[in-house]
Amino acid sequence: MTLLMCHYHITIIEIREEAELKRSKEYEVTSLDIQTQQEFIEAMRHKNLEEKREKKYIITTYGCQMNEHDSEKLAGMLQTMGYQSTDDKKEADLIIFNTCCVRENAELKVYGNLGALKSLKKNNPDLIITVCGCMMQQPQVVEELKRKYRHVDLVFGTHNLHKFPELLANTLHSENMLVDVWEQEGEIIEGVPVIRKYDIKTFVNIMFGCNNFCTYCIVPYTRGRERSREVADILAEVTDLVQHGTKEITLLGQNVNSYGKTLDGDVTFADLLRELNKVEGIERIRFMTSHPKDLSEDLIDAIATCNKVCEHVHLPFQSGSNAVLKAMNRSYTKEKYLNLVNKLKTRVPNVSLTTDIIVGFPEETEEDFAHTLDIVNQVGFDAAFTFLYSIRQGTPAAKIEAQVEDTVKHERFNRLVERVNEICGIINQGYLDKTVEVLVEGPSKTDPSRLMGRTRQNKLVNFSGDESLIGQLVQVKITDPKTFSLNGELI
Ligand code: SAM
Ligand code: SF4
Repeated sequence: MTLLMCHYHITIIEIREEAELKRSKEYEVTSLDIQTQQEFIEAMRHKNLEEKREKKYIITTYGCQMNEHDSEKLAGMLQTMGYQSTDDKKEADLIIFNTCCVRENAELKVYGNLGALKSLKKNNPDLIITVCGCMMQQPQVVEELKRKYRHVDLVFGTHNLHKFPELLANTLHSENMLVDVWEQEGEIIEGVPVIRKYDIKTFVNIMFGCNNFCTYCIVPYTRGRERSREVADILAEVTDLVQHGTKEITLLGQNVNSYGKTLDGDVTFADLLRELNKVEGIERIRFMTSHPKDLSEDLIDAIATCNKVCEHVHLPFQSGSNAVLKAMNRSYTKEKYLNLVNKLKTRVPNVSLTTDIIVGFPEETEEDFAHTLDIVNQVGFDAAFTFLYSIRQGTPAAKIEAQVEDTVKHERFNRLVERVNEICGIINQGYLDKTVEVLVEGPSKTDPSRLMGRTRQNKLVNFSGDESLIGQLVQVKITDPKTFSLNGELI
């Protein structure tokens, strides 16, 4: 397949051709694919070496950890091609926006920041502006870019990230905007180079996509159907990370609890945790996100018994009202959620719980919202990500006419945030005079002369200490707990 300077429907024709190829010769096409990209990487590296000028890139990432990790892969491919990162837009040869479309706000930010690049491109016509990620999986966004953002050079989506070297090479020879967005996901591509933001703690994808179709959520449409990586590939990646100094891994998936369903054999997420727990050199294992409907007894047992699995579960409940949960297609009730929390608290002593909550889902009443506050009060979350419901075109909830008025949504949201913060503060006060194990990550963000790290419960701790402690596990006595962090002294 050759890449053309194409508009959206031509790209789709190419995808169809490729999908047919994949059906008949699945494995060969996949392995050839990454090999082809390696050839493009090599050619670009030579070209950059010949030009004798170090080319620079900036990647701006919007959204979740999945996107952050995708950006680490883009950085990995770029650095292998001979590009270096910079923070200065004026000296950049390549600017990439890796986008998110989970809420409208994230999209508006991208459009605003893209608009601001127009003058930069005018002054430097050789600058390559690339937009990729979840937003690009929506045809109306690509149309908008073609209509109003003609200064963009390259557009691609979530399913063909591994083809970035080829796309970039084609863009350099093109006068027009190059668009390549695949409608559907393909095979999982292993072997994409990665430059990780941190050495000590890193992300590891264990699965891609989502099959849950919560009625408010765009992710299943932008990230495709759920598919899990092979256990052997995950173990090989983690073993390699250990050799490069990694102490903590965070396993990523939209619903890690359903890991393994697309694999041959009977492998579950609990099995994967038990396997990873045996890898020597890894000190801590984290994971996100857990869907309450798939949190099994066996998984709770694995969390309780694997010594490296941290005592922290991010368990989004979204709403406390059974009517709203049903309308959201979440497949659990308030009672089932509270029951799971009790099991976790009983089986995993000192477990910290965090969550996601949506306020103002269509038709949410004051009584529905009271149930949400009730869960917050009963569980006592260590932290919560709170969101105002945002209409996402193409999702079932967007078609519900009875949207909650903005003023009502905001008033409920403020009440919720106030209560969540109050509880976080109370929980953190409980750490006063306690000694906690901290994995030291680097200089503190608030005071770079101090150090920061996290506890197994994922609490942020600031303390004074020598830089040589970075990457080590240390004991810290908490002397001054705050609402969102803990201050302490090394012991
Ligand atoms: N897969 C994860 C799960 O189910 O918990 C979450 C992925 S999503 C990127 C992160 C959070 O965004 C969700 O848990 C939900 O609270 C929030 N979210 C998703 N769609 C939303 C929407 N349309 N409006 C507001 N918040 C939304
Ligand atoms: Fe979206 Fe629900 Fe899938 Fe999470 S589980 S990504 S909220 S559809």
